[in-house]
Amino acid sequence: MKLRSLPERKPFLTAALALVTLAALAAAAISAEPRAKDLFGARKLPAVARAQSFGFYSRGCFTGGVALPMDGPTWEVMRPSRNRRWGHPAMIALIEKLSRDAAADGWPGLLIGDVSQPRGGPMMTGHASHQIGLDADIWLTPMPKRPLTTAQRETMSATLMVDEKTHLVKEALWTPQHTRLLKRAASYPEVERILVNPGIKKKLCDTVTGDRTWLRKIRPFWGHDYHFHMRIGCQPGSPFCKAQETTTDDDGCGKPLAWWFTEEPWRPNKNPDAPKARDLMTMANLPKQCQDVLNAPDAPSLEAVTYQGGAAAVAVAEPQPTEPAETISSGSAAMPAAASAFAPTPKIGIPLPRPRPGN
Ligand SMILES: [Zn+2]
Repeated sequence: MKLRSLPERKPFLTAALALVTLAALAAAAISAEPRAKDLFGARKLPAVARAQSFGFYSRGCFTGGVALPMDGPTWEVMRPSRNRRWGHPAMIALIEKLSRDAAADGWPGLLIGDVSQPRGGPMMTGHASHQIGLDADIWLTPMPKRPLTTAQRETMSATLMVDEKTHLVKEALWTPQHTRLLKRAASYPEVERILVNPGIKKKLCDTVTGDRTWLRKIRPFWGHDYHFHMRIGCQPGSPFCKAQETTTDDDGCGKPLAWWFTEEPWRPNKNPDAPKARDLMTMANLPKQCQDVLNAPDAPSLEAVTYQGGAAAVAVAEPQPTEPAETISSGSAAMPAAASAFAPTPKIGIPLPRPRPGN
């Protein structure tokens, strides 16, 4: 299936495209093809091959994945039973680096949420993205002093940082260390976007003084009120990885943010029971290389592909794709069209947030 990608979508066009995508996905589902999320969700180990991402963040897969160790001096993996601590080696290395740098900044350590499945692909639950090993969720709760048991990692609840009614940060919970952590994450050149709740973006817009250039990477989005989502760009050696369009140079604190404090983004979903894209995707909806990724042999053991500061993930095979990657639609059928993380924020006339202090 070929889906045309429109570079500058208007909201109604996005809606139309989402409908077309949904229809195509539904047609594929009716054909009783196995669902891609079942196939990818069943793989317990990565495909042994050179690290390479195929497709887009919300529609793809990857080889050469490595696991973030369950514990390190400055991090702990949360919800380990989900088996989503896998990523492109560059992503896993960056998580470790962020944990060290943040600790040096005074943050007690990172609690790591979902990265990807061992071979990426759509997940049984949760995210639309996280499919190519280049997305990671990191809690806004600091690592506790005492090591968490496995049971605690499964059940410990996260701290909601944002009031669900006002969409503003809970002042009693937000600290300068939270700001510093996000600034540190945004400082890495490979990090292209960081998704946070609009209330958190607003808090940064209202309080960050001095260098504000990093704010352009901080993007408001639904949810992301107990964690932030760190996305890195396509890595070298991944010619079939589809890049996301670059963010503007603007700090994003003006009209695009103000839209989030209107009624429009929070209207109830008119069709909450509609199937999500991940529930309908078959292998035909993914880049064709993903079939090879799925079929590739398992890594010999979990230990062999657990990241150890660059020593893990030995390549023993390399898929040789010969044709160009298919054009991949970034439309998501999971949410209203405007709710796609990959759709531009509508620009409409609305009140601006408070001006930043000190100016
Ligand atoms: Zn995420």
